[in-house]
Amino acid sequence: MSMPLRQSMRVGTYLLRQKLAHREKFPLIVELEPLFACNLACAGCGKIQHPASVLKQRMPVEQAIAAIEECGAPMVSIAGGEPLMHPQIDVLVKELIKRKKYVFLCTNALLIPKKIDKFEPSRYFAWAVHIDGLAERHDASVCKEGVFEEAVEAIRECKRRGFRVTTNTTVFSTDSPQTVIDVLNYLNDDLQVDEMMISPAYAYEKAPDQDHFLGVNETRELFRKAFADGNRKRWRLNHSPLFLDFLEGKVDFGCTAWGIPSYSLKGWQRPCYLMSDGYVGSYKELIETTDWEKYGRGKDPRCANCMAHCGYEPSAVLATTSSLRESIRALGRS
Ligand code: SF4
Ligand code: SF4
Repeated sequence: MSMPLRQSMRVGTYLLRQKLAHREKFPLIVELEPLFACNLACAGCGKIQHPASVLKQRMPVEQAIAAIEECGAPMVSIAGGEPLMHPQIDVLVKELIKRKKYVFLCTNALLIPKKIDKFEPSRYFAWAVHIDGLAERHDASVCKEGVFEEAVEAIRECKRRGFRVTTNTTVFSTDSPQTVIDVLNYLNDDLQVDEMMISPAYAYEKAPDQDHFLGVNETRELFRKAFADGNRKRWRLNHSPLFLDFLEGKVDFGCTAWGIPSYSLKGWQRPCYLMSDGYVGSYKELIETTDWEKYGRGKDPRCANCMAHCGYEPSAVLATTSSLRESIRALGRS
């Protein structure tokens, strides 16, 4: 993944340590979901359909830290639900930073004005704000008017205060190359966020809107067109060059779901945060008792259209580190 040099070196050292220890499966980043509740109800969301009794729950900080320590991942992406609704989210972030974990706090930004005073800028911490498009598109995606403007104002405030700000844009079949170009140009050039992530939407079985997910060929064509004319090189995308090649259909990979495992209120989710074939109590058990070979495109019908980063970014990162040429390319972000 493209990331600040110090973070790249830390992740590179971590990967080398795994290799030297002959550890075959290890996490690069954990998707931590300390709650499922949210203050929005997006049509494409597969996380907020839990019963009220589950939506009320909040994961204790000690439990979250124990899970991250057990698996040893160098990076943690805190999602949900809306993590800023967790009353101890600032404590959780501080505890992770204390352990030198790189933390991405994924948020729809609505609660940033209320909670920002509880956070401090750190090289270990970045906001990851959900922005699916320019005003009309984003508000349609989150099913509420005015959210885009609030998110933009929150991003500006975070930047003013010296925080690292990244964004996360999910791409649906209602997008065109131009809508992707428009939003990434705006985030890159106007808002000048530090880095941007993009993800083709995954068709969650529980998502209320099942009609707007992209197929593999559509995804490739859309990204090929959006990345043309030097856009890909110019945008500060927080992905490895090989993952971007993968989105464009220039290379293909198998799924490496164990590289970005998911830990939530229910435990370690098998096999990834998009699909749930049950939960287990420890990362060790997840790795040892999951039949990883049966997942991925061409193997499980539920994976047929999946090109999500949680399955394929780890494949791209592992392919990068096993090739000197790709490692040099990743450092130069091309
Ligand atoms: S903001 Fe995120 S967690 Fe909340 S409903 Fe939308 S997609 Fe789901
Ligand atoms: S392809 Fe991999 S990441 Fe995508 S849904 Fe299937 S197991 Fe999960």
